[in-house]
Order: sequence, then C-alpha cells, then structure tokens
Amino acid sequence: MKLHTRILLGLLAGVICGTLLAWFKIGAVASYLQPVGAIFIKLLKMITIPLIMVSIMGASAGFSDLKKLKRIAMKTIVFFLASTIIAVSLGILASNAFKPGHGLDPLKKQQIMADIQADAHWQKQLATSAAAQKKTISAFLLDMIPTNPFTALATGDMLGVITFSLLLGLACTLIDPNKKQKIVDLLDAVNDALIALVKAVMKLAPLAVFTLITVAIAQFGFHFLWSLLGYCLLAIGVMMLFLFAYYSLAIALLGRFNPITFFKAMSSVGLLAFSTSSSNAVLPENMISCEQKLGIDKRSAAFILPLGATINMSGTAIYQGVSVVFIAQVFGLALTFQQQLLIILTATLAAVGTAGIPGIGIVTLAMVLGSVGIPAQGIGLIIGVERILDMCRTVINVLGDSATALIVDQSEKRRETRKASKNT
Ligand code: ASP
Repeated sequence: MKLHTRILLGLLAGVICGTLLAWFKIGAVASYLQPVGAIFIKLLKMITIPLIMVSIMGASAGFSDLKKLKRIAMKTIVFFLASTIIAVSLGILASNAFKPGHGLDPLKKQQIMADIQADAHWQKQLATSAAAQKKTISAFLLDMIPTNPFTALATGDMLGVITFSLLLGLACTLIDPNKKQKIVDLLDAVNDALIALVKAVMKLAPLAVFTLITVAIAQFGFHFLWSLLGYCLLAIGVMMLFLFAYYSLAIALLGRFNPITFFKAMSSVGLLAFSTSSSNAVLPENMISCEQKLGIDKRSAAFILPLGATINMSGTAIYQGVSVVFIAQVFGLALTFQQQLLIILTATLAAVGTAGIPGIGIVTLAMVLGSVGIPAQGIGLIIGVERILDMCRTVINVLGDSATALIVDQSEKRRETRKASKNT
C-alpha cells in the first residue's frame, strides 16, 4: 500500500477514534497516545534546521549563474507577497459579505468568554498574544540578521538560519572554484544523508498521524465549534477556495502545469500539514515530494521551500483577515475603509512574521488587532476553535510553498528552453 494511502487511513482512523473518545467524554485517555505523535514531530523538526542550512547554502553556492538566483529570489518573493495580500483581502471581503459576527448571540458570547476565563491553558495563550502585540515591525526585520549564527541554529530561529546560510553560500561563489566545489560536494552528500533520514522517519507517519488526529479531536471542545460554526465554516471555506481556485489558476496559467497532477502528487504533504499543524515539520517531506514527484529542480526547491516555510503563510493570512473582521463585528465596532487597508498591511507583515509551528497565527493576530485598536481579549472569542483552524491553515501555507516552487521552477525551465532554441 502506498505511503499516502496509509497516511489517509491513519487520519480517518484518528477521526473515528477521537470522535468516539470525545463522545464518551473520555478524551483524557488520548493523552496516552500523545508521545507517538510528539516523537514523530520531534524527529522531523530535528532534521529541519540542519536541512535548511545545508540545502540553502548548497543551493546558493551551487548556482553557477548568480543572475538566475537573483531572478528566482525576486519571482519567489513577489509571488509570496502577492498571494499573502490577496489572501488577507479575500478573508476581509468574505467576513464583510457574510458577517459571521453579527449572528452571534450576546449570551453565547458571554458564555464563550466565561469558559475561556475559567481555562488556565487559554489564559496562558491570551497572555502570549497580548505580549506579541508589543513587537514592532522593525524588530521583525532586525530579527532576520542573527548576531550569532550558532545561537540561531540552536534556538531554531529559521529566518536567522536562512539569512546566514544564504550569505555564506553566496560567499562561496567568491572563493577559489576548486575549494568551492569541495564545499558544494560535501553539502550535497550531507543533504542526501538527511533526506535518507527523513524517508526513514516517514515510515512512522501513518501511526503518528493516527495518534495526532485522535488526540486533537478527543481534546477539542466541540461545543466551541457549534457556537462559532458560521465563523469556522467561513474561514475554512475561504481557505479551500484559495487553495483550489487561486493556486489552481496560478499553477495552470503561470506554471503551465496540470493542477490535478499537482494536488495528487502533493496529497500526502497536505495530510501531514493537516495532522502536524507545522510548516517546519513538513518541510523535509515537502522538499522530497517537490523534487521527486513534481520534478522541481533540486536547487530551486532547496531555496524556495525553506523560505516559504518561514515567510509564506497565505492560510494564516486568510485566517487573520476573517478573524479580525469577525471579532470587530462581535464587539460592534465598524471598521472604516482605511482601517481595513491597515489590516491588509499588518496582517501581511504578521503572516510573514508567523513561524511555521503550531498555534503561532493566533499569537501574531494580536498585532493585527492592535493596529486597528481592537483589544487583544477578542482573541478569547476564537481561541476555542484555534486547533482546527490551525490544522487547515497549515495545509494552505505548506501547499502554497510547493505551488510557488513549481510556478517559479516552470518559468525558469521555459526560459532555458527558449534560450536553448534561440542558440540553435
Ligand atoms: N501552524 C502554522 C504553520 O505552521 C502557523 C500558524 O499558526 O498560522 O504554518
């Protein structure tokens, strides 16, 4: 049986098992399963940071044509930013059109807030969100440059690791070509070993997905889902629309590639993203699938995907757009056109600053709320359904990276074919 089918079966078994545990109110039993999923995620994360360093450094040192690297970087960043801006705008538009916050009964609102206040776990989350509100944009930009690359590696500071690896890789192109080749060969060999390790870890995926989903559903408060059904359905609906309409169109028109082939090839990556809620954890498998199933050039994938896992969060952007307007509606605050433009700007920056780990989108949401004067306490309203929305937005975040890698790679390949035919 193919790995992707086994992962899907694990997911379905997890949904059934988790629902039964929640139904019989014995969700706590699921905690015994927690270690299996946790081990799997830790193993993947253990590989992520060295893989980013080795692959980005190898890719930037190995590009013999620096102009090509610059072109790829430009195309990638422009597409990431455009997707994020469109994603937030779509989220805001949908919330304005369907007004999920207007239908929320004031009694239900009080009940949700009271439940959150009584829950120590959510209180801790709220405190983190309120603290995040204080982080300035310039602090985000400064964070890109690590003062000590080893600290960045040790603390898992992705943006810091990317900056350092990229610069060191570029510096390799300035040294004696023989020495540079030795570095590139070494990085290639380490890269292959890391990929072999990922493949071994992936054998655990079906069982790990089963436990992750069982635990998530068993511990998930279904009563929150019912009270916020309109908001959840709207957020998930916009995410699906974005994934299947926007990215399909972009893949077909800009990438000139069949979107159905893309989604089929990337289905196991999507399932993993859904189960782990972490772009970083899925990165190694995303790199392998992009290269082996979509035929994306190794160097392009090595450059675009880690960058995407760090700064391209279109799913998170949709979530933030829908959530800010929803919270404003529940609080009875009318947002002006200028305020909505400000939301697009801050949500784009917040999505860029969101790390690819579970539950960070709701923390950076505080920054967006703060930009238009909505109290961070509004997050309390939606915190109960955070888990399920995190799972969904991570799928869009991860597949958005794969789609971008494919589009940029296809455009580079077309360019090379045109050049080759001109020369003949
Ligand atoms: N969990 C998301 C990711 O890893 C980030 C978020 O919380 O929005 O892509």
